[in-house]
Amino acid sequence: MAVVIDRDECTGCGLCIDECPSEALSFDAEGISTVDPDLCVECGACVDVCPVVAITL
Ligand code: SF4
Ligand code: SF4
Repeated sequence: MAVVIDRDECTGCGLCIDECPSEALSFDAEGISTVDPDLCVECGACVDVCPVVAITL
């Protein structure tokens, strides 16, 4: 079921995108982090790195 990103909380810092080992995260057209559930391996790295706790797994 991959990760869920709270679009209201995401600041677009990009830390989660840098941290993702499977390149499942990217910015959408509005500069908010978005996940490709087909690529996410549910490692939790993005959850740990997000400074505003916008990602849950
Ligand atoms: S849980 Fe892991 S694989 Fe999935 S989006 Fe986050 S960092 Fe990437
Ligand atoms: S680390 Fe958190 S605030 Fe930064 S881009 Fe990812 S979801 Fe948004």
